[in-house]
Amino acid sequence: MSSEERKEETRYAPETCAHCDGEGCCYCDKTGKVLVAQPSRKCRHCDGDGCIYCGFTGWAGLFTRCSGSDGILPP
Ligand SMILES: [Zn+2]
Ligand SMILES: [Zn+2]
Repeated sequence: MSSEERKEETRYAPETCAHCDGEGCCYCDKTGKVLVAQPSRKCRHCDGDGCIYCGFTGWAGLFTRCSGSDGILPP
């Protein structure tokens, strides 16, 4: 009997949303923070400014509940 195999889980940590700079907006669910895969990296498309690829949060590897996408959040 084999024990449950554990896949390597991506760890996420809250980072400040670049769109609102922590103030809270629709992209960070009004929290000012977004969960980002660690080690956190700025979005290479916008260098942290926020673009469609990073869901306007400025971060790469964004956590999303509706996984399967590239982490792009609906506008
Ligand atoms: Zn925000
Ligand atoms: Zn970006």
